[in-house]
Amino acid sequence: MMNLIDDLRRLVGDRATDSSSERLCYSRDASQVRGLPDYVVRPLNAIEVSEIVRLAGRLGVPVTPRGAGTGLAGGAVPIKGGILLDLSGMDRMLELDLDDLQVQIEPGVIPERLNWALKEHGFFFPPDPGSSAMCTIGGMIANNASGMRCVKYGTTRDHVLDLEVVMADGRVIHTGSRMLKSSAGYDLTRLMVGSEGTLGIITAARLRITPLPRARRLIAASFPTAEAGARAVIEAFSAGIVPSACEILDRTTLMVLSKCNPNLALPMDGDLILFEVDGSEQSTAEEAEQIERACSAAISVRIATGKEEMEEIWAARRLVGAAVSRLDPNLSRVYLGEDVGVPISQIPTLIARVERIAEEAGIPAMKYGHIGDGNLHAALFIDITDEDRWGALERAADRIHLAALDLGGTVSAEHGIGLARARYMERQWGEGLDLMRSIKRAIDPQGILNPGKLGL
Ligand SMILES: Cc1cc2nc3c(=O)[nH]c(=O)nc-3n(C[C@H](O)[C@H](O)[C@H](O)COP(=O)(O)OP(=O)(O)OC[C@H]3O[C@@H](n4cnc5c(N)ncnc54)[C@H](O)[C@@H]3O)c2cc1C
Repeated sequence: MMNLIDDLRRLVGDRATDSSSERLCYSRDASQVRGLPDYVVRPLNAIEVSEIVRLAGRLGVPVTPRGAGTGLAGGAVPIKGGILLDLSGMDRMLELDLDDLQVQIEPGVIPERLNWALKEHGFFFPPDPGSSAMCTIGGMIANNASGMRCVKYGTTRDHVLDLEVVMADGRVIHTGSRMLKSSAGYDLTRLMVGSEGTLGIITAARLRITPLPRARRLIAASFPTAEAGARAVIEAFSAGIVPSACEILDRTTLMVLSKCNPNLALPMDGDLILFEVDGSEQSTAEEAEQIERACSAAISVRIATGKEEMEEIWAARRLVGAAVSRLDPNLSRVYLGEDVGVPISQIPTLIARVERIAEEAGIPAMKYGHIGDGNLHAALFIDITDEDRWGALERAADRIHLAALDLGGTVSAEHGIGLARARYMERQWGEGLDLMRSIKRAIDPQGILNPGKLGL
C-alpha cells in the first residue's frame, strides 16, 4: 500500500493524489453519509480506468466511482476507503448519430449540456432529474435516475442502448450495441443500469434520443388536500391520458418556495398538481380539457399554453431542491425516507400515512415529487444538533419506508440505495437479494467495486 500513490502517479501523473484536503472534499455526497478515501484519481479515458482497477485488484484495494457527487444515498462515498475514482473529467460527447436516433457520450457529460446540444437538432434526452444542471450521465445510469418526464418517456434505463464498462478485473466490455432492439442473450445493459458502481465502471454510454414534441400544455390545479389531488391524477390516468409530466407540490412546499421568491408564477391556493401534456396542438388541447374534467374537485385550474408562462412554472418547480433551506433557518433537511414510490393507485394512502407519521413525530414535512409515477419526496426537517430529534427522524423515516413496502412499493424510486437505504434491501427483495449477491460475487469476486453499498 505504501507505494500505491507512486504507482497511481505512474499511470495518470498528478491526476492522482493522497493530499488530505482533496480526500476530504471527496468524503461526502449530497446525503448525510461520510467516508474518507485514501486516494483520489481523475482518469481521462477507459484505458486509464482499466489500469487503475487492475492495480487495485492486485492489492485488493476498494475502488469507488463518482460522477458529480449529487447522489442522495451515499452511493459515491468511499465508506471502506481506498481509491475514489472521479469520472467527471471524462466529459466528451463522442458521436451524434441522428439517422440512428442515438448519441455516444463519456460518463462525465452533464445532462443539461447534452440537451442543449440536442435541442438545435430537434431532439432531447428525456430523463430530467432536478439535478440535471449538475449531475453526470454516468451517475444517472448507475442510479437509474429519473425525473419529471419519466411518467411518459421512461427512466434512464429505457434510454440506454450500450455501455462501455471496465470490469473488476480490468477488462473493458460492451453491454449492448447500436441496435434499438435486440433479443440476443442476457440484458447486460439493464444489469449495469442501477448497479451503483458495484458491478463495473461505466466509461462510455450510447443513448437513445427522442424528437422534441411540437406542442405542450401545462395544467396547474389546486386542491383542498394533497389526497384529493392524488385522486384527480388517478382519474386522469384512468381516462387514458399519459401526461409528459405530473408533479405534486403540497402547500408547505409552496409556502417554502414563496419564501425563496415571493413572485413565483405558481398558484398558492391549495395543494398543487402540475400536469403537462405534449404532442400536437390538437391532441394537447383535447387532453388538457380531459384533465380539467378529471380535476372536478379542484379549487382552481389554470391552463398555460405560452412558452414563457410554462417555463416560469417549471423553473419554480425546479427551485424546490434549493428552496428547502428556507423552511426554518434552525432546521436542516435530512435525506431519509425522501424517495419512496408506490403504485399510482396507492398514492392517496401513502400521502395520508406520511402526513400522519410526520405529525406523530412532531417533524415538519414538505411533500413534493413525481406523483405521476407514484414517487413521493417527503422532506423531513430537524435540528441536526439535537440527538433526540435524530432518533425521532430515523424512526419516522423507517415508518415511511415500511409504509411504501406495505403498499407494494419501493424504498427508492429514483435516488438509489447507496448506504442510506441498504438495510431495507432484504425486506424489499427477500431471496432476490441472494441472487444479487451471487451476481456480485461472480463479477467482482474480491468485492473491490464500491464495497458496502446496496446491502450486498
Ligand atoms: C438538488 C438535487 C435534486 C435531485 N433531483 C433528482 C431527481 O429529480 N431525480 C433523480 O433521480 N435524482 C435526483 N437527485 C439525485 C442525484 O442527482 C442523481 O442520483 C444523479 O443521477 C447522481 O449523479 P452524480 O453524477 O452526481 O452521481 P454520484 O452521486 O457521483 O454517484 C451516484 C452513484 O453512481 C455511481 N457512479 C457514478 N459514476 C459512475 C460511473 N461512471 N460508473 C459506475 N458508477 C458510477 C457512484 O458510485 C454512486 O453509486 C437530486 C440531487 C440533488 C442534490
